[in-house]
Parts: sequence; structure tokens; C-alpha cells
Amino acid sequence: MKKIIRKILIANRGEIAVRVMRTCRTMGIATVAVYSDWDKRSPHLRIAGESHYLGPSPARESYLNVDKILEIARTSGADAIHPCYGFLSENPSFVERVEKEGLIFIGPSAAAIRKLGDKTSAKEIARTLGVPVVPGTVKAPSSPEEARSVGKSIGYPVLLKAAAGGGGKGMRIVREEKDLAGALSLSMSEAKSSFSDGRVYMEKYIEDPRHIEVQVIADAHGAVVHLGERECSIQRRYQKIIEESPSEAIDEKLRRSLAESAVRLAGYAGYTGAGTVEFILDREGNAYFMEVNTRLQVEHPVTEWRTGIDIVREQIRIAAGERLSRTQPEITFSGHAIECRIYAEDSANGFLPYTGRIEHIAHPAGPGVRIDTAIENGSDIGPYYDPMISKVISFGRSRPEALARMKESLRAYEIYGVKTNLDLLLWILDDPDFIAGNFDTNFLGRKYRPGLFTDPPAGIRTLAGLVAAALHLAGEGRFEQATDGCDPSWTSQRAEEMR
Ligand code: ADP
Repeated sequence: MKKIIRKILIANRGEIAVRVMRTCRTMGIATVAVYSDWDKRSPHLRIAGESHYLGPSPARESYLNVDKILEIARTSGADAIHPCYGFLSENPSFVERVEKEGLIFIGPSAAAIRKLGDKTSAKEIARTLGVPVVPGTVKAPSSPEEARSVGKSIGYPVLLKAAAGGGGKGMRIVREEKDLAGALSLSMSEAKSSFSDGRVYMEKYIEDPRHIEVQVIADAHGAVVHLGERECSIQRRYQKIIEESPSEAIDEKLRRSLAESAVRLAGYAGYTGAGTVEFILDREGNAYFMEVNTRLQVEHPVTEWRTGIDIVREQIRIAAGERLSRTQPEITFSGHAIECRIYAEDSANGFLPYTGRIEHIAHPAGPGVRIDTAIENGSDIGPYYDPMISKVISFGRSRPEALARMKESLRAYEIYGVKTNLDLLLWILDDPDFIAGNFDTNFLGRKYRPGLFTDPPAGIRTLAGLVAAALHLAGEGRFEQATDGCDPSWTSQRAEEMR
């Protein structure tokens, strides 16, 4: 049953490729990087033992090019493929192709992804197990008439969601029946173009909910454990930007019940590897199952810090047929961990993604601070991939200590060349309701107003940063442009030129 993994191809890019490779290196496993035109100088290539070119920058022609990835795996002699998150990570047909090649997929089986990765099938399983699910359809309605009758039965507002969805795409709130047909057709076409699967289902829209998720890991010997919960309610555009563990919103009883439901779901589906079971909590404190993410999550470091478990290491061990390194009673939780996602974006202006060159970046460091990133001086934030610059994870014995360390880290960040959400994050961390743990997914919807905080032009955060950037550019003989760098249109224009 045990398999030998000596070399892993990491079918991804950016911070997560770097993070996975670091664990491989600690395990003495060789790594193979793949890259697109855009990523020719990415740090993940320097960490990898070898790097292979995939294709042009659009994901379809590179990180989603299954034939090319498998060809590289074959010729490089990789034993296994780690998909990280996004791209091919939750695609059961990809898992089958990998296995047909005689390679190991580091993640759950195709069958388990089909059962739990598909939102409608996962809801059906949750119902079977008696886990409460958000009221709504399990199957996508087949006609506007059917949708209207579903809307009547669950009551407005309803939320339209793509069955194969992710990242909030295809999601739409419908507050009145007259808007249903139009919203449905918009969501279906968005779902079709984003996920090649136009199925859209309907759910009761829960007002002001909290998003709580449970990390599970399961081995091929039938052991399933949970690694506690993460609170992910601070979001913009249905996407998480601050995550923490433990959650301030749940008591021990609910904590145990969510964890127990998550473990039962994974066990029932014959799940192996790392997975996340997401729940939504209404204002009365009722928890409903929402979906399962059958992969490593962006916010997994929060859990790693509280448990001391390297989740990627567990994933690799599980794929090699090993047993989980700890049983449930051996897993202990300590302190409080928070993650902030730093994005290149115009937070003061509708959170629009921002493209351009990072002229200067200095990541913070200190006690209880972890930075996961693949961005360095001269990196370009482009239109092809997620504009995340880095993840800052802070840890403390208590929530106030973790928050203080986070604030200090964000203040110390120097990023020059693009606008970022650093000031938005700092503003959230200073909010009395956030500090009191009193928030929900509508926190920004309720409090955010354009112009609430003043974003420095093009993300110039400190005088030191500006000087460092000027020195950096002077070193490259581009001092002239350094002064122009204050103009945001200049950075976007530069990105245009580079394309
Ligand atoms: P995705 O897979 O696109 O990320 P999720 O199902 O994880 O979608 O939901 C993302 C976010 O959308 C949740 O964290 C929550 O803020 C919001 N959401 C999802 N379902 C509901 C619902 N029924 N009512 C209210 N908000 C919801």
C-alpha cells in the first residue's frame, strides 16, 4: 500500500508553489516547477530542483494545460503531482488522467472529489447524514418556472450559486421574484464561462452570516481527524481577506458539533488528504453546511500555527499511503492565529484589482509572524492570475496579542509601485466591532464607504519605502521613472506595455 515519492511536480505558481516546495525540501523530496511566460522570473523557479516551461500566460494555455503538465511529469521523472489550490486542484478528470499515467495525485480520489467537491452532491450527502444544510435546491432548477416555484417555497431573498463555483463567481442575491429570471440567466452564463458548467442552484440567502470552516485530514487507512475551525467572515466580493482561528463566534458545544459533522462527511465520502468543510452561521447561531473544498486552502497556515502540523507534509504522507502522523487526542491547539491577505487592489475604489510592477517590497518579520509570498522587488502583478501579493500570518498566546503583531507587521510593510489593500486591512483591525469579535460577512458591506481611508498614491506607504524604491531604481538606471511611479496610471500603463 505504501508508495515511494521521490520527486513531485508542483502544478501551480506563486506563493503556494513556493510553500509546497519548501515542505518537499524538508522531506528530502525533489521538486519540479512549471511556469508560463508571465512567470519566467518567478521565485518558485529558483526554489525548485528543475523548472519546465508550460506555455503562454493565460491559465488555459499554461497552468490548465493537462497534456503539457503530464508530459513534463513524465519526462522529468516525477512520481507525484501536487495541485495546490485553484487551477486543476478540484478537477476529478485531471486526477484520473494523472493516475492513468501511473502517477500519484496528492489529494483526494476522483470519486471523493465528485462526491464532495460538487456543491449539489455534497449537500445531498450532508442531508443524508442529518447535517443541517441551507434551505434551497439540491439540483439546479431546469427552467425559470421551476426556479420561480423554488423561490416561492424557500422565500426571498435567495442566493444563486454556481454548482461548480468558487471565488464567489456566478453568485447573485435576488430579493424579489421579478428579478429572478434575469439574474438566473446572468449567473448561468457566468458559471458556464468561468467553470464550463452552467448549473446554478438556489439557496436561502442568510442575512449577516458568519463563515466558519473546519479543516479535516484523512488517510487511506480510514482515519479522519479535524484540525479545528477557521473564522473567515471578513470578506469583500464574497472572497475572504482576513481569517483567524479559533472563532470568537462559537462556543465549545458548537465547535465540537461542527468538527464532528465535518469528520463524518469526510469519512462517509471515503475522503483522503486535506479538505475543508464550510458552514454558515445565521444570526441566531444556527449552523448550516455550505460546501467542501477538496484541496489545500489559502488560509491553511492559520491552522498550521495553532496545531503545529505541516498540512502539506500530511498531504504528501497520505498520498504515499502512510498513516496520519497524529490521532485526534494527540492533536492539541494553542494560542490564536490570524491571516491577512495582501492584495494589489484599489480598495478605496471598489476593490478593483491593480496591475503593475512592484518597484520595492520589504516584508515584515518578527516574533509570531509568518509571511507566505512569491513577490519580490521587480515582480509584476498582471491580469492573468490572482493579484495576491502575500499572506501575513500572525500568532499570539491570545487574540489581542496576535492582533497587535498583525497590526505591527502591516504597518511595517513597504510596498511601492502598486496600490494595495494594506490600509483597508489596518482600518479593519482598528474597528471596535472587529476588535470585539463582533462581525459577520456583511462587515464591509455595512461599514465600507469609498474614501473611508486615504490610500497613498500607488501604495507608497512609508518615506523609507519611497527612498528604498528610488535607490533600487537608481541601481537599475531607472531613477527618472521612480518619480513618475507616484502616478497610478503609470503603473497600469507599464503593465499594458509589458503584455
Ligand atoms: P465559493 O465557492 O464561490 O467561494 P461559497 O459557497 O464558499 O462560494 O461562499 C462564499 C461566500 O458567500 C460565503 O463565505 C458567504 O459569505 C457567502 N454565502 C454563501 N452562501 C450564502 C448564503 N446562503 N447566504 C448568505 N451568504 C452566503
